[in-house]
Amino acid sequence: MLNEIPVVIAGSGITGLSAALHLAESGVLKILIVTGPSIPTSMTAPGMLSGGQRDNFTRIAAAHQVDFAKTIWQFGDRAFDLTTRWARNHGVPISTCRRLRLIATPEELTEATIAVRELNKAGLTSQILCDKQLAASPWARALGPRILAVQEDGERGGWIDTHNMHVKLRMAAQANPAIQFIDGTVENISGYADPELNITIRLNDSQSETKKLQTIKASSMIAACHLAIGDLIPSLKSALVSSADQWLSTSGPLDSSDPQSPWNSPGIAWSAFHNHEWGATQLDGKILLGGGRILRKWAGFEATESKVEAKISNYIVEQTKKSFPHWRADCESMLEGAGLDCHPCDELPVVGPMYGEGRILVATGFMGQGLTLGFYSGFCLAKLLMTGRCDELPRRLWPERLRSLPDQE
Ligand SMILES: Cc1cc2nc3c(=O)[nH]c(=O)nc-3n(C[C@H](O)[C@H](O)[C@H](O)COP(=O)(O)OP(=O)(O)OC[C@H]3O[C@@H](n4cnc5c(N)ncnc54)[C@H](O)[C@@H]3O)c2cc1C
Repeated sequence: MLNEIPVVIAGSGITGLSAALHLAESGVLKILIVTGPSIPTSMTAPGMLSGGQRDNFTRIAAAHQVDFAKTIWQFGDRAFDLTTRWARNHGVPISTCRRLRLIATPEELTEATIAVRELNKAGLTSQILCDKQLAASPWARALGPRILAVQEDGERGGWIDTHNMHVKLRMAAQANPAIQFIDGTVENISGYADPELNITIRLNDSQSETKKLQTIKASSMIAACHLAIGDLIPSLKSALVSSADQWLSTSGPLDSSDPQSPWNSPGIAWSAFHNHEWGATQLDGKILLGGGRILRKWAGFEATESKVEAKISNYIVEQTKKSFPHWRADCESMLEGAGLDCHPCDELPVVGPMYGEGRILVATGFMGQGLTLGFYSGFCLAKLLMTGRCDELPRRLWPERLRSLPDQE
């Protein structure tokens, strides 16, 4: 059936395109991507890459136990590896080097020390550099006194040209005879009791009123539409919380006092102060900086829109200057952006088949790490759909865990 009736994918961001390409690779002959009403977040996201998880290991272990923290950490590592491999094989500008956490408070140092111990016990790479060890490390010279320690989480950090990645993914999908695009928005899914699903699509820019709606049969559907999944599948709506975030890209180097400083190499991804500040060194000598959500109302949660706010850009720049006193900020050359990200209520991505309707699969809620987790989720859903199982996808990420939440129709 998979080869006669199409698999429909709602959303043409990194998750949807990855799902389509992996489905085609595993032999599905008919895949329809419904592009959606807006530019994908994947295309405008700034491009910090991180393995493991954005939050420190202790945060995940406290909420979900150590064993599962290890599982989800490894999920993040595999996502990083698969995405960066695809990007390199397709000539996407990308650099990978290190993932670092800059520790700015004694409380955070206590937590990071425990996190490193737990990571190592779980067989994962991490070390804490403080006092003499930090002073002897190549990272120390560029850092201001604000930074008490550095947690070094290995080589899975980096930066990717997201626009180019999106273009390359789309070109690969367009070149694949199994994949077709429909310029429209999935409006409704029905036919749950039928052998095939009915997918109603509102076509974008349709010439005539009568042609605006099109209903097609689908063997299954992958909803890869970020926050909008809640509009399509109401039982997920209350689980998906929006969060406004912003970033800027400006000139480097981070350490102008030493051209040989490792901070001046591309592909270093760091976060500071419990992820309230983050950044990455880009390939072209520029640096990417983000964060400052704490300055927004409700820390940006449940925002309905996200705009660049000058006070947040200033905060990001000022905090970065404190961490890197040799950085000569050139705010004239700043490129800024903002967007809405998706945080599930239990802070775990939502990836897998819908409870009660296994023909509908979803992938969303990547909390600032969607460039890798979205790509990998596309792979996992394609495998699940084709083979009926995917051992790489932890069952705890499936939406079934959210079934007791109230519907928000
Ligand atoms: C400001 C900001 C900075 C970020 N920075 C980073 C970062 O540095 N690194 C990182 O890894 N991640 C980052 N993220 C997160 C990352 O961008 C997202 O997790 C990821 O892009 C989500 O990809 P996606 O394909 O799932 O969704 P999207 O890329 O948003 O694509 C979803 C698509 O679905 C379409 N759609 C919506 N409704 C429908 C419908 N009914 N039918 C059909 N299509 C529909 C939309 O038009 C859209 O094109 C950031 C997010 C934000 C907001």
